[in-house]
Amino acid sequence: MIHKKSRDEIKRMRHAGHIVALVHKKMKEVIEPGISTKELDDIAYHIIKGERAIPTFLGYHGFPGSICASINEQVVHGIPNENIKVKEGDIISIDVGATYAGMVGDGAWTYPVGKVSDDVIRLLKTTEEALFAGIAQMRAGNVLDDISGAVEDVAKREKMGIVRQYGGHGVGHEMHEDPFLFNYRVGDKTLIKPNTAIAIEPMLNLGCDEVVVADDEWTVSTQDGKPSAHFEHTVLATDDGNIIITQLMN
Ligand code: MG
Repeated sequence: MIHKKSRDEIKRMRHAGHIVALVHKKMKEVIEPGISTKELDDIAYHIIKGERAIPTFLGYHGFPGSICASINEQVVHGIPNENIKVKEGDIISIDVGATYAGMVGDGAWTYPVGKVSDDVIRLLKTTEEALFAGIAQMRAGNVLDDISGAVEDVAKREKMGIVRQYGGHGVGHEMHEDPFLFNYRVGDKTLIKPNTAIAIEPMLNLGCDEVVVADDEWTVSTQDGKPSAHFEHTVLATDDGNIIITQLMN
């Protein structure tokens, strides 16, 4: 069942999303060669706690960080570590969740570290475009496959690999609620209703679709070692369009 949000739940969720956006604003400022993923995690933790919210990821199935920090060929779920530092030419995907008054916002962005290659710039631009193409389909009356297909079309146009094992999801009281949202067409005709929220999150690769999970049982990387990008917003369908939840509020 897809949970419909009340006015009050939406208000709290937007606050949670605002906090996620505050973390991303800061990440953009502080990511530079030499900073460790643990330092980024600490910064995120303090912003979230300072806003009287809970870092949703911390302790989730035992995850040890407040953010996932995934570098280059790592797709998602990278564990923050003081010995892992980004360098010029890397990309780093930061995924962050905040729970405010019982409601969750979830958002990810991939940041370039200094100057990156033209291929990587195309990967970042394409994945961001795929996210917003998906968001444009997030409206009452559409079906889940409309979002999936919009993401797939952008990825295929640029010949990017599409990660198959992971995808978007309902979000609200929990980080992962029904439904699961594929990043490619599967024929899912589940109707999108007003006041339902989904985290839309394309994960695209410069190479193949396939991914592998590391021995740490968290870090997901591309099988061919080529770079991967991840862009995610929590989005609420309304009666006349949608609202991006994970953005700064005035
Ligand atoms: Mg998510």
